[in-house]
Amino acid sequence: MLHQGDELELRIEKFADRGKSLTRVDGYVLFIESGVPGDRVRICVTKRKASYAEARIVQLLEPSPLRTAPRCRYFGTCGGCKWQHVHYEAQLEAKRQRVYEALVHHGGFDGVAVRPTLPSPRIYGYRNKMEFSFSTERWLTPEEIASQQPLDRHFAVGLHVPNNFYKVIDLEECHLPEPITVRLLNALRTFFKEQHWEPWDIRRHTGYLRHLVVRTGTRTGEVMVNLITSRYDTVRMAELKAFVQQRFPEVTTLVNTINTSPAQVAYGEATHILFGPGVIHDKIGPFQFEIAPEAFFQTNTEQAERLYEVTRELAEVKPEDLVYDLYCGTGTISIFIAPHVRHVVGVELVASAVENARANAAANHIPNCTFVAGDLLQVLTPEFVRMHGRPDVIIVDPPRGGMHPQVVRRIAQLRPERLVYVSCNPQTQARDLKLLREHYRIEAVQPVDLFPHTDHVECVVALRACQA
Ligand code: SAH
Repeated sequence: MLHQGDELELRIEKFADRGKSLTRVDGYVLFIESGVPGDRVRICVTKRKASYAEARIVQLLEPSPLRTAPRCRYFGTCGGCKWQHVHYEAQLEAKRQRVYEALVHHGGFDGVAVRPTLPSPRIYGYRNKMEFSFSTERWLTPEEIASQQPLDRHFAVGLHVPNNFYKVIDLEECHLPEPITVRLLNALRTFFKEQHWEPWDIRRHTGYLRHLVVRTGTRTGEVMVNLITSRYDTVRMAELKAFVQQRFPEVTTLVNTINTSPAQVAYGEATHILFGPGVIHDKIGPFQFEIAPEAFFQTNTEQAERLYEVTRELAEVKPEDLVYDLYCGTGTISIFIAPHVRHVVGVELVASAVENARANAAANHIPNCTFVAGDLLQVLTPEFVRMHGRPDVIIVDPPRGGMHPQVVRRIAQLRPERLVYVSCNPQTQARDLKLLREHYRIEAVQPVDLFPHTDHVECVVALRACQA
């Protein structure tokens, strides 16, 4: 029997959720912080529950052949990447495995063939958006502490350490975005500190600098800097504008979003455009999309294109098809498939996203899309179907929580011949598919890696209506 504080030697069996790994000891599951399958380790049990225990690695006795050297000096401290120390091939296989297990454990589907995960064209420098936080509480890395340099502990801009709401790593290096993003982060940090602009204090709700968001158009080269502050200060913004224009001619637009509320979110009540158009553009396939400061846009542009290609192929769309694109966001999937079908009806909760979708369709000369704003729970009614027609294909791409069971039931009643479920959460996807198993059979399961070095996985499942 295991007890808290026990130390033992074992070999790690496989990856588990949230960047952990696991192994079984006498049939009892042990979750281990950050191990890699194949590692031989000495562990210490940190927590014991009735059905499982948690442990941390005390010593790596024999590293797994799946290990590789992480590229970033913050790896292990920063919460952004959990798998930089794992070969990319092994990351892909772990994601495939994750999807398979979700289908078994949350869907009750056994023996479904899951295709190999589609690799991302770029595994570093792939992110088109980074959201950095400011804090008065800097998290010092072990190297920073060891350096014995005088360090400013009361100013940090970077990423949060995992499970810590207050502390931020003063990040000088990051390999997920394009290099311009990190150059901006570092130059702006120096500028803000020289100007004595105060970072936001999360505990007292005072200070000025809250978030720094950098968005890049992977295929257009456009760059947006959005500084989120607690108030609008015209003098400071004039100084920032002069600095950015002089030092970074690559930046195509600078905006300042105001968030006066205590909530730590990188959006706010008002957005001031300091120069440029206040939006950037990016391209997916032949289509150009306008991206507003707060708009959702897939963060890995090149791989988003492949995700949409997979979606279109698995939907087996035909020129005469009527397609519903549910949870359509700014209409990217709708527009991507529109030239291949008769008509697309997109539904989306956020009204501004629907406006973007309409503008995107118009700008790309796509005449055969209709976008409807509303909650699917209320919108997807028999009346809606009478108005827009019975779909041949439904594509759904819900947020992490998956679909409301009532929406799943409505889809089952509508019974389009083909259904494609795009998801960023294999567990809720499997749970929703379980509700459809009497009506649909799974034809293909294709994980797509949009987020290399993180444990996030996107998955496209193609379904076909069973014979009634
Ligand atoms: N398919 C899009 C966006 C998917 S993100 C793309 O690839 O870009 C999921 C979207 O579902 C978000 O835009 C969110 O606003 C929307 N959403 C969430 N709950 C909803 C609901 N109940 N009804 C309609 N849309 C919803």
